[in-house]
Amino acid sequence: MSKEFIVVQISDSHLFADTSGLHHDTNVYQNLIKVLQSIKQLPHVDIIVFTGDLTQDHTDASYQLFVQAFYACEIITPVYYLAGNHDEPKLLNHHLASAPFCPENVIETKHWQILLMESKSETPAGEVTQQQFSQVANAINAKKSQLLLMHHHPVDAGFFIDQHGLNNQQQFCDFIDAFPSIAAVGCGHIHQALTLPMTLTKRIVNLYSCPATSIQFDVISATAAKNSQGPGFRQFILTADKQLFTDVTFI
Ligand SMILES: [Zn+2]
Repeated sequence: MSKEFIVVQISDSHLFADTSGLHHDTNVYQNLIKVLQSIKQLPHVDIIVFTGDLTQDHTDASYQLFVQAFYACEIITPVYYLAGNHDEPKLLNHHLASAPFCPENVIETKHWQILLMESKSETPAGEVTQQQFSQVANAINAKKSQLLLMHHHPVDAGFFIDQHGLNNQQQFCDFIDAFPSIAAVGCGHIHQALTLPMTLTKRIVNLYSCPATSIQFDVISATAAKNSQGPGFRQFILTADKQLFTDVTFI
């Protein structure tokens, strides 16, 4: 197997203004540091993609802490990002303005495209706008394969987080259906590492969700509660012959 390109996905850091901030009684800054230190140990990573919910308290200082964590762990791998429901895209662009952070939302390799799709709406639920669908559609090169990454889960995950899912699920599935070269979709938001097959009219495409760097949700609970899993991240291995492999790491 030729390992063409390795993408590490991280998500949902839910930071506060202070390094001592607790989310569900968990120090989320320290958990982010643990994840970044673990990624730093990997033999090869081409890019890191952060799929949103950087902040929990919506302060400027929480964005600065996110950047500080990458500096503290000496991450030099390019880091791409998109907004979660808690984030302000303008603040992300303002604070994540220099290396290792990169503003692009299309990453090209010889055989693959990694596409970042915005899904933030005015509520905790997600919505992909027509403009965003068009922008991603225009970027697609049908001769390559695509990994599409977003914040919200575009199909139900089967637990309480579905009340904050994607409002226009059917439109999203129609979009994926229309582009046979899209190989897989990855999301954050649900604080769990699940594989959810999306049944489309012509094929099945897997949705892979990313563990949070903060806390993992208990899928049995009727409301937001953490389980005993530690922070984690997901890796995608994209090969030159257009195969995709993925696995998750919990710390
Ligand atoms: Zn979220």
